[in-house]
Amino acid sequence: MAQQQMGNQPLIVLSEDSQRTSGRDAQSMNITAGKAVAESVRTTLGPKGMDKMLVDSTGNVVVTNDGVTILKEMDIEHPAANMIVEVAETQEDEVGDGTTTSVVIAGELLAKAEDLLEQDIHATILAQGYRQAAQRAKEILEENAIEVSSDDTEYLEEIAATAMTGKGAENARDTLSSLVVSAVQAVADDDGIDTDNVKLEKVVGGAVENSELVEGVIVDKERVHDNMPYMAEDANVALLDTAIEVKETEIDAEVNVDSPDQLQQFLDQEEEQLREMVDKLKDAGADVVFAQKGIDDMAQHYLAKEGILAVRRAKKSDIKALSRATGAKVVSNIDDITEDDLGFAGSVAEKDIGGDTRIFVEDVDQARSVTLVLRGGTEHVVDEVERAIEDSMGVVRVTLEDGKVLPGGGAPEIELSMGLRDFADSVEGREQLAVEAFADAIDVIPRTLAENAGHDPIDSLVDLRSEHDDGNTAAGLDAYTGDIVDMEEEGVVEPLRVKTQAIESATEAAVMILRIDDVIAAGDLKGGQTGDDDEDAGGPGGPGGAPGGMGGGMGGMGGGMGGMM
Ligand code: ADP
Ligand code: MG
Repeated sequence: MAQQQMGNQPLIVLSEDSQRTSGRDAQSMNITAGKAVAESVRTTLGPKGMDKMLVDSTGNVVVTNDGVTILKEMDIEHPAANMIVEVAETQEDEVGDGTTTSVVIAGELLAKAEDLLEQDIHATILAQGYRQAAQRAKEILEENAIEVSSDDTEYLEEIAATAMTGKGAENARDTLSSLVVSAVQAVADDDGIDTDNVKLEKVVGGAVENSELVEGVIVDKERVHDNMPYMAEDANVALLDTAIEVKETEIDAEVNVDSPDQLQQFLDQEEEQLREMVDKLKDAGADVVFAQKGIDDMAQHYLAKEGILAVRRAKKSDIKALSRATGAKVVSNIDDITEDDLGFAGSVAEKDIGGDTRIFVEDVDQARSVTLVLRGGTEHVVDEVERAIEDSMGVVRVTLEDGKVLPGGGAPEIELSMGLRDFADSVEGREQLAVEAFADAIDVIPRTLAENAGHDPIDSLVDLRSEHDDGNTAAGLDAYTGDIVDMEEEGVVEPLRVKTQAIESATEAAVMILRIDDVIAAGDLKGGQTGDDDEDAGGPGGPGGAPGGMGGGMGGMGGGMGGMM
């Protein structure tokens, strides 16, 4: 393929199997792939966005409205398409919410760029203009931001609720958003906020409204022995990352026993060791013991006799959470355990929840580790509630960190597109066209919100612009009524960072894709760019008849989306 003339002799530098697409073909192939990804999540945007059902090759079903979840489940293979998926992943990592928004913007930036490329505007100029526009966009967003104080719980709950709209959790939004805010506030400390310290415990059974916040830790285990107490009050808690068993010798030792007496002696000795371990725990003052490994039958018996509630094979993450919550040190050698190593919990109890037995560790001194018990009628419901809660915790965390929010419902996007059009006038050269294209691209968010809610997108955009012209910077589209309302008054608010991050990653991905003018794929690349034409390019927005053999490239996507409805 890649040949160069050297005299009369062609010089071949690539293997025969490799495929190469270059120039406009490469650009247009990559743009089509990127647009297809954005198109596949566009209908889920906003409170009235639809859900998707994703079925993987083993028949597992996921029903979701969450952009990043959809894209991850889709098993996309096209390299440029994957760059768009990464936009969603970055958004998820950085903020938790706004994944669909970021991908939709990236797709639209590519679409607008395509028009300009056709008018022979060079990709480098486009990239330059897009970067300038993104820079200005951030400033405009900052200018519009509203300050929030970290103790304004009511406002934080509105932010939490906005991130949940459109997800399965909707009917229980009030309950859930107050739980989310309490949970995130509980784990905030001098080091910042680590939402990993909010454990999510999913329980199938009961209604979503029955979800609750437990100030402490729930361990999905039971007491190890029936004769142990069900509960311990004002409990001293010991945490072990070892077993309560007699250590097996490293070398395979054979013990020869000649008489029943000797056997008894041997067993007595083992028993004695176990007895000593339990005594150590007892002497240290432990009322409750969580062991990360096993507990020998005999040791269980002794523990029960001492009235100690013990749990074996607790997960490492549970031990860590328990340590944070109770202040207990994790002990590796039972011989060394002392009173100082123990933590404290006002109540440790085995309880039944949704037909399942779990150990609740509550009333802890430092409620630095909390558990959100998420309930719902079916597994699918609980899973989608979990995703909504994760988005919601993300926005509350980001708001507490930055203290700045923006109204939702397309309001900031209208401010952006109008502000960027003004800015374009000051940009010299052909970059100006790119800045204008960027401004047009941002309109995709209010337009899509309107479309998905069943309202006329043109009318909505015109109305929105005229409100913003009059200086109503918070005017957005009420997705339920189609009216233009003050979004801040409506309580539809999102962290500033959701928007700035979305613009930033979308621009980066679009620019990166635009700057590629040569795709060289190794021959054995599975589902490579220049694939077979007989492969199906299916999936919503499947780029039928795309140039450069898109069929093969998107084949993976077609496959992954096979079960989508
Ligand atoms: P993302 O993955 O980008 O967060 P969502 O499906 O959660 O996608 O939709 C987010 C968009 O929906 C944001 O633009 C937000 O402002 C908007 N939105 C949320 N609640 C409302 C509402 N009640 N009315 C109008 N728009 C809303
Ligand atoms: Mg969202």
